[in-house]
Amino acid sequence: TGMQETTQAAVIAESLLKEVSKPYKIDQHILETSPSIGISIYPHDGPNVDELMRNADIAMYHAKEQGRSNYHFFTESMLITAHEKLKFEKELRAALQKGQLELHYQPQLHVAEKCISAVEALIRWKHPERGFITPDNFIPLAEETGIIHELGEWIFNEACRQLAAWKKAGIDNLRMSINLSVKQLHSKDLVKIISTTLANHNLSGSELELEITETAAMNNPELAVQQLASIRELGLGLAIDDFGTGYSSLAYLKRLPIQTLKLDKDFVRDIEHDQNDLEISTATIGLAHSLGLKIVAEGVETEGQFEFLVAHQCDYLQGYLFSKPLP
Ligand code: C2E
Ligand code: CA
Ligand code: CA
Repeated sequence: TGMQETTQAAVIAESLLKEVSKPYKIDQHILETSPSIGISIYPHDGPNVDELMRNADIAMYHAKEQGRSNYHFFTESMLITAHEKLKFEKELRAALQKGQLELHYQPQLHVAEKCISAVEALIRWKHPERGFITPDNFIPLAEETGIIHELGEWIFNEACRQLAAWKKAGIDNLRMSINLSVKQLHSKDLVKIISTTLANHNLSGSELELEITETAAMNNPELAVQQLASIRELGLGLAIDDFGTGYSSLAYLKRLPIQTLKLDKDFVRDIEHDQNDLEISTATIGLAHSLGLKIVAEGVETEGQFEFLVAHQCDYLQGYLFSKPLP
């Protein structure tokens, strides 16, 4: 009770996992358990104990699916039935074929050079009945059903096609930043897909950057280090997305072949009014610079945020203040 932030529940879950996983001795046997924890939070995940417990239970099964000794927060999408998932998968597959998916692009400003140096590709689903569906409403399910692999390949190809078209139209020195799902990061085919697509569009790796969330990078850090190193060999830039919202091991962070951290918009939002967010943002910029990394602030909406970030030597800025993602 009295939690300030949901992350506190995660900290407790982690220490519980650690304690409960410890081997114990019964008679002459050494026994081990691998606990799974589901977390639901009042009032967001249920108005009463029954519903909270039911949803925590559902979250626990998701934790179990991810392997031994895990915890998982409850999310609405877990309530979707297997039947609905199958239907969704079919719909998304059809959307891919019918050309209902689109990439929109949001500029990133290079503060020192006062120019647009990159754009981030953000996917949209133009649903004939439901209108534009935003990625938060279909990427998680696409990951769960595995269709993210086809989707990710389409996204990569489409972003490269657009970048090549812009180059042909005379727009030079623009980098394309593409979001990568954790599932793609774990895929054996990823490096091959990237190199083939680059060749098909006559692009060099240095014209692209991949964004991987902090949680994805830390989920299996050894694998991430390997995969990212191979991608880096192709010349692509690498950025850690949503930095500060997950749990980074700084030891691993140092080993990742990355060039950029993206300061999450949750911190930027209240930078002017919340002392904590101000300090976290300032410290993150400092951390990035002392590790030799560049930092991008996302979700910049106000002049005040803009001035603060520029004054604190943030390298790149992205947000509605400059432009929304555009088709
Ligand atoms: P993200 O990578 O953190 O992307 C930033 C999100 O913030 C985008 O939401 C963007 O439209 C929004 N945004 C940009 N500027 C502002 C601002 O000033 N204020 C506010 N409040 N929001 C701003 P969007 O497009 O809905 O994407 C949500 C998330 O979905 C992305 O978060 C990313 O994790 C995922 N996503 C989007 N496109 C792709 C994709 O092609 N592949 C994968 N794997 N994930 C994607
Ligand atoms: Ca991103
Ligand atoms: Ca973000």
